[in-house]
Amino acid sequence: MSDDTGAGSGARVRSRLTVLSGPSGVGKSSVLAELRRMRPAIHFSVSVTTRKPRPGEVDGEHYHFVDLAGFEKLVANDELLEHAEFAGNCYGTPRGPVEKALAEGTPSLLEIELQGARQVRATMPGAQLVMLAPPSWEDLVHRLTGRGTEDPAVVARRLEIAREELAAEPEFDEVVVNADVRSAAESLLNLVVGPQPGA
Ligand code: 5GP
Repeated sequence: MSDDTGAGSGARVRSRLTVLSGPSGVGKSSVLAELRRMRPAIHFSVSVTTRKPRPGEVDGEHYHFVDLAGFEKLVANDELLEHAEFAGNCYGTPRGPVEKALAEGTPSLLEIELQGARQVRATMPGAQLVMLAPPSWEDLVHRLTGRGTEDPAVVARRLEIAREELAAEPEFDEVVVNADVRSAAESLLNLVVGPQPGA
């Protein structure tokens, strides 16, 4: 999975799978939005979740929103590359689109939590695991509390999980600190596709 295919007529493009994880509130969505603007040729996996959409989230774009029965059917049919429960909801990566992208030589990026990252590590050892980390713990608490879209119990649970996720840093191949969205996106781009010509 982590082979260098040399696909395309220009620079060599690494056809590989990158997993981006990081605690809730660290700014994964903002960094990924910036990355999309920079490099649309990356395949961004769209996860399936049983979580209810947040305001502004679009089905099929941010997530495929399903009910529990629909999720369990996907698991039973082995249609998910990995899946996990997070803060009371189920999340999973549809297998087909990722395998298709990699077969076509398109770098694929999954934004998933720690249990899922570990599953990918186990089943696809060539995958590259990248952690997006906050500049400090205080910064993360501030960001997570300030979002104001979840109730306090959910925020508390997410902070507890965040501590566990940050403690898993040694399991990751690379750490990108999100002190600045643009710089973090550039670092991630380098990791996903390799250094760009002239960069
Ligand atoms: P949120 O509800 O804030 O969108 O996501 C909660 C957590 O679930 C985040 O850490 C996010 O990375 C993770 N997540 C999103 N999609 C997937 C997925 O397909 N699989 C796994 N294992 N985690 C996911």
